[in-house]
Amino acid sequence: MRNDVRSHLDRRAALRLLSALSGLLAASTKISGVALAETSPNASGTSPFAVEIAPRVYAHKGHVALYAPANEGDISNAGFVVGRDAVAVIDTGGSARVGAHLHQAIRQVTQLPIRYVINTHMHPDHVFGNSAFEADQPAFVGHHKLARGLSARAERYLAINGELLGADVFAGTKIVLPTLAISDVTKLDLGGREIIIEPQKTAHTDNDLIVRDSETGTVFLGDLLFSEHIPTLDGSILGWMSVLDTLAQAPAQRVVPGHGPPSMPWPDAAKPIRHYLQVVTDEIRAMIKADHTLSDATKTVGFSERDAWQLFEDYHVRNVSAAFAELEWE
Ligand SMILES: [Zn+2]
Repeated sequence: MRNDVRSHLDRRAALRLLSALSGLLAASTKISGVALAETSPNASGTSPFAVEIAPRVYAHKGHVALYAPANEGDISNAGFVVGRDAVAVIDTGGSARVGAHLHQAIRQVTQLPIRYVINTHMHPDHVFGNSAFEADQPAFVGHHKLARGLSARAERYLAINGELLGADVFAGTKIVLPTLAISDVTKLDLGGREIIIEPQKTAHTDNDLIVRDSETGTVFLGDLLFSEHIPTLDGSILGWMSVLDTLAQAPAQRVVPGHGPPSMPWPDAAKPIRHYLQVVTDEIRAMIKADHTLSDATKTVGFSERDAWQLFEDYHVRNVSAAFAELEWE
């Protein structure tokens, strides 16, 4: 009995030692800039910039924050898929600097040519790193409505985000529009690995697309999926719910949200955002029916969701305003 206890304790001590050793190994992996484990990477410090979430599929988790010099505009997720012959990049971060960090993370994994740089939609935190990839001469891939939407806002986006980051951090950032416009489901070849681009109807914006790696069942959803970070509405709240409902029917091994963890289970990951959009819709419809104004709505609608999301104070009222404008014409 006594011996049994001792050998049990010895085993526990050995396990502790093993665990300490694997911790050391994990720490040394981080120094290389790319880790296999799901940690929470960011642009600063020694954390890995991108994690391998499935074989040869990498994702980066941006800060859940507003644009600020300290985060260099690294406030959204991005990723890349490595085929036999080439690499596809999905989103590029919120400044040329963040794009350069992503480029570096790719080069730590592979020297293969970067054939495609895909933007999931036009928002600056997803496209402003594009210029870091120009020298690779990839095809820049976007929804067929992306160029129009981004061009219309280019001046304002550059001014506002340049101001928020400061000239030094923002240096080199510019608008790089798609050279390959996507109107229908499109397959891109990385050599022995096809990725599928699926444009969506108006939802988060009017130019959302998703990227599906069929080999691993990984889907990059862009800002059709938010987690941790409150959703931001710049398209159609009804369209967004409808797109989420359709996508939830399509199986995936894992998804990468535009904001939140680098990898999430599907369709469970959609539940909180789908709930948020429904609450806002239902409560605005009730306000409109009772002849309340937009101003009334911004004071009450959706406030039960306050504790469920980070950055609620920064975006929620704007979401209510956008949804109200859409729903009052039903
Ligand atoms: Zn967005």
